[in-house]
Amino acid sequence: MTPGQGSPTTPFIAPGATLGQGSATTPFIAPGATLGQGSPTTPFIAPGATLGQGSPTTPFIAPGATLGVMGGGQLARMFVHAAQQMGYATAVLDPDPASPAGWVAHHHVQADYLDPQGLARLAELSAAVTTEFENVPASALARLAERRPVAPAAAAVAVCQDRAAEKAQFLRSGVACAPHAVIESGAQLAAVGDDLLPGILKTARLGYDGKGQRRVSTRADLAGAWAALGRVACVLEQLLPLAREISVIVARGVGGDIVNLPVQQNLHRDGVLAVTQVPAPDVAADVQRRAIAAARQVAADLGYVGVLCVEFFVQRDGSLVANEIAPRPHNSGHHSIDSCDASQFDLQVRALTGAPLAPPRQHSACVMLNLLGDLWGGPGEPARAPDWAALLALPGVHLHLYGKAQARPGRKMGHLTVTAASAGQADAVARQAAERLGIEAW
Ligand code: ATP
Ligand code: MG
Repeated sequence: MTPGQGSPTTPFIAPGATLGQGSATTPFIAPGATLGQGSPTTPFIAPGATLGQGSPTTPFIAPGATLGVMGGGQLARMFVHAAQQMGYATAVLDPDPASPAGWVAHHHVQADYLDPQGLARLAELSAAVTTEFENVPASALARLAERRPVAPAAAAVAVCQDRAAEKAQFLRSGVACAPHAVIESGAQLAAVGDDLLPGILKTARLGYDGKGQRRVSTRADLAGAWAALGRVACVLEQLLPLAREISVIVARGVGGDIVNLPVQQNLHRDGVLAVTQVPAPDVAADVQRRAIAAARQVAADLGYVGVLCVEFFVQRDGSLVANEIAPRPHNSGHHSIDSCDASQFDLQVRALTGAPLAPPRQHSACVMLNLLGDLWGGPGEPARAPDWAALLALPGVHLHLYGKAQARPGRKMGHLTVTAASAGQADAVARQAAERLGIEAW
């Protein structure tokens, strides 16, 4: 075999395999290799740094330092990838011994999010700490912030953990949100206005991917739904006539500088993101401008440091309504890894380390398809991975798999992007990819 050309008989080695054994033509740089200079265990923070407050005086944390992340899922994994590309070492705290980010980080602190020893170890390892999901207990972030810069700050994350607080923040920022009522008691349930029905009852805390939600048409439905949700604090929202769903990702630095990614158009199925198209094909330019301005305003008003995503609904009359805030990179922003010259994870690293936030530029049109566990076969069937080779034969396809061993229906196993010179081309190839995967077209 001629080195570098690959043999026509070489069988396709599917993702998940370990490369690097026995082939002269396959250089192997193992996951977990340290990029950059300096010891991964000895972060250097210059004298004069203010630790623990995410202070605007936090100095630039140079490559070679170790960056920490709370949570070890796919968002943390992609943060780790971006950090490592820039020469940082990484540390992940997650209780799961086989977490997607734990696989690829230099250090995996296997501990519960509130475990004092685990938090102490993460702080010891890391020059600064971020989070990959909003349900990390705010007290854990506050504890870390006693020792290291933490971005986003616990107070901002706490707003995003609670739908009622989130809506109050939208109103403070002058950003419209759905008409709603907070329900924490039987009296509040009884006092709900008729204008909120039909509506969606959502738990105030801990909902995701459409979980913790019930659609209700009548007062009897509402009472039943609240009981079914365990009478926990909820928000009842009016059911809005949605034309489109979009999202905007912004990054804000310690000095208040803000940049944004282009507006993403999102299609949800069964409450889970299925398809993201960028540029947004069906959203007027002025609606896009308003969404970007609103997302920037929310980040500024929160005094936010890090990457934040605001989800919006575009109603049939063209009006814009903010839905929720994610205090972290977002599934709808995954396209940016392949379509932009700075991804949402690059921006997360930059915001955390105090690096300049150069405005990202989209260089390719892109369609992203989420790869849910359903593609591995239905419940009870033996799991079989999709035909990756057939997908990789299409031009502009980028496959991202998160290294999860178990495929379950609805579980986010990976995503696939299609980049192209025009939105039309990206869409056409993405439709072919969807067909090969058995994903319904949009
Ligand atoms: P995720 O965290 O995955 O974004 P979630 O569980 O937090 O989802 P929401 O984003 O609040 O839930 O809602 C999920 C989906 O339900 C929305 O993307 C939208 O399609 C629909 N939806 C939510 N609220 C409304 C509403 N007030 N009117 C109409 N549709 C809605
Ligand atoms: Mg949502």
